Amino acid sequence: MAPILETRRLSKRFGGLRATDGVDLSIDAGEIRCLIGPNGAGKSTLFRLILGTYPPDSGEIRFRGEDVTGFLPYRRVARGMSIKFQVPGIFKDLSVEHNLTIALQQRVGRDTLQRELERLLDVLDLGTARGRRAGELSHGQQQWLEIGMAIALSPSLLLLDEPTAGMSPEETFKTGELIKRLNADGMTMVVIEHDMTFVRQVARRVTVLHLGQIFVEGSMDDIVRNDDVARIYLGRE
Ligand code: ADP
Ligand code: MG
Repeated sequence: MAPILETRRLSKRFGGLRATDGVDLSIDAGEIRCLIGPNGAGKSTLFRLILGTYPPDSGEIRFRGEDVTGFLPYRRVARGMSIKFQVPGIFKDLSVEHNLTIALQQRVGRDTLQRELERLLDVLDLGTARGRRAGELSHGQQQWLEIGMAIALSPSLLLLDEPTAGMSPEETFKTGELIKRLNADGMTMVVIEHDMTFVRQVARRVTVLHLGQIFVEGSMDDIVRNDDVARIYLGRE
């Protein structure tokens, strides 16, 4: 199968620091890929390069067979890319319904808006919270609402940066099931995560980043058995 996303020798420096250093990442359509690695490994920077909020110093990004390296973020979004950042970007003073409606209005017309809204509330399990102010929701519900804002555009590729940060084990599990359900409906997912239980729950393939480079790729079993991976997490090299 042709990859939906490919980076080729992608690099980005901040001063003397190589935050992304020659990354060749290839994601097949239909995958759930987890991206792990110690703090500062360059995971979030890689997402920003993929979305286009940072321009790379060198290298190429191909999305759905097209070279999008020079595209501004909105053009990549228009082609089917969406992202949920680490920091929630919801409107805290507006209701859940209002938040989702704002996001949906970018894609669907008046005639289908209500139906799409109900579908989204159902997928996110936010039906009973629909009238509440987003700022009053639990931490987990705010994260799901944020995922809802990102999927309202019906993207073909969704990038999630630490979606379960700060969640309870139950909320984390529920987030994993949500991601699997969206994937079963055809959405390709790349997820940055620290929680290994979660990674095992969702991912078939895991990419480990270290010092801006792909350190190793493999199944979850390959990764947990790999002594070199354990060493980079312990900071002994
Ligand atoms: P991760 O998400 O894996 O924790 P980041 O991609 O956030 O890592 O950061 C990778 C490295 O790049 C870190 O050393 C970080 O301090 C640095 N970095 C990230 N963004 C910037 C920036 N805008 N300016 C300078 N340095 C940055
Ligand atoms: Mg990060």
